[in-house]
Amino acid sequence: MTKLLHRTIGATLPRAVSGQGVTITDSDGRAYIDGSGGAAVSCLGHNHPEVLAAMTTQMNAISYAHTSFFTTDVAEELAQRLTALAPDSLDHVYLVSGGSEAVEAALKMARQYFVEIGQPQRRHIIARRQSYHGNTIGALATGGNAMRRAQFQPILPETHHVSPCYAYRDLQTGETHAQYAARLADELEAKIQELGADQVMAFVAEPVVGATLGAVPAVEGYFKRIREICDRHGILLILDEVMCGMGRTGTIFAFEQEGVVPDLVTIAKGLGGGFQPIGAVLLSRKIFAAFRDGSGLFQHGHTYIGHPIAAAAANKVVEILTRDGMMAHVNAMGDRLQSGLETALGQSPYVGDIRGRGLFRGIEIVADKDSKDPFDPKLKTYAKIKKAAIARGLLCYPMGGTIDGVHGDHVLLAPPYICTPHDIDQIVDRIAAAINDVTAHN
Ligand code: PMP
Repeated sequence: MTKLLHRTIGATLPRAVSGQGVTITDSDGRAYIDGSGGAAVSCLGHNHPEVLAAMTTQMNAISYAHTSFFTTDVAEELAQRLTALAPDSLDHVYLVSGGSEAVEAALKMARQYFVEIGQPQRRHIIARRQSYHGNTIGALATGGNAMRRAQFQPILPETHHVSPCYAYRDLQTGETHAQYAARLADELEAKIQELGADQVMAFVAEPVVGATLGAVPAVEGYFKRIREICDRHGILLILDEVMCGMGRTGTIFAFEQEGVVPDLVTIAKGLGGGFQPIGAVLLSRKIFAAFRDGSGLFQHGHTYIGHPIAAAAANKVVEILTRDGMMAHVNAMGDRLQSGLETALGQSPYVGDIRGRGLFRGIEIVADKDSKDPFDPKLKTYAKIKKAAIARGLLCYPMGGTIDGVHGDHVLLAPPYICTPHDIDQIVDRIAAAINDVTAHN
């Protein structure tokens, strides 16, 4: 009997014994295409020799040195590399161990910034319903996923939520994207007024919503409106790119496609590619300056910040991501995935929407394409699809359940960037077969 507390208690899970490229093999010798990179993590697939070599070199030199005593070449290099890729204003990097830690750090940076600049009354966080920002207390409070929050609600700090930008379900008949963006912007503005504009510290959003909605980008112009509102009221914009960042959507940062620059951006998952647990916050010059010229300290820290092996892995991952042709390949494979899915599933009466950017694609499953009514949550359609895909040797990331009163099932696909056209075609064939099989018998 297992002594490990698994997320789903009593689940019998296969044991992963090896990984190579896009494939994971279990102890029974079964091979699976990693069509979701775990949870959009394994951007370079498994056992990438250059990343392993970089980690080994670092391990042989020094594995751990506490950041109160030392910095390391790899951590410094990683910060240089990330800031060189980011817009000029994002000019410092704080290294943590994962996505939730990155979100916690970003929230605390926002709060400390206002304390340092003499606006200690600013304390409110506004985020969006149907979002996910992590599972630690602050990050969970920020996320608007009612299902994940439910039992912890009484111990969560107060946060405020507005509507996400979810055109498939929320765009009204006859409404243009610009009108929709304006409507959502007005909702944010109204929330800010309600809380008191000088009391709000940050607005937090995922540029492309991942875990909660399944690869949903905002409509054009939405983030520009949001940025304007934040600027007008002196509120910091925190963009959470833990899932959609590091090239997943075809640009290193997803926000590059929105024409805005955040004050703080969180990254993780693809940053370490799963080779090591690592996350980061990129912070703007003005926030850094407030800390430097104020208390001279960021009042926060964890034992493993700037971990040398994690930094060595991420440094190599980012180097590979930024080599010539990698983002072009992500876009080409992403287009192939989208058009393959449209061809294979576009006619299905049970597929409402196929969306996303780059190698970050979502399929929304419905009981009725015209009404967009979802399947009864009791059917657990998403779980059946996961099982049917696994039976066909495909790992995907389906989600479902009732979130904030809205029920829906969707499947997230986030293959490694090293996938070939053949891998994409296999993913399309297998997920289409799994979805068709489950929906036909649901
Ligand atoms: N933010 C977003 C947008 C995420 O998708 C996730 C993880 N799914 C997190 C934060 C939390 O990251 P982690 O699981 O590494 O703590």
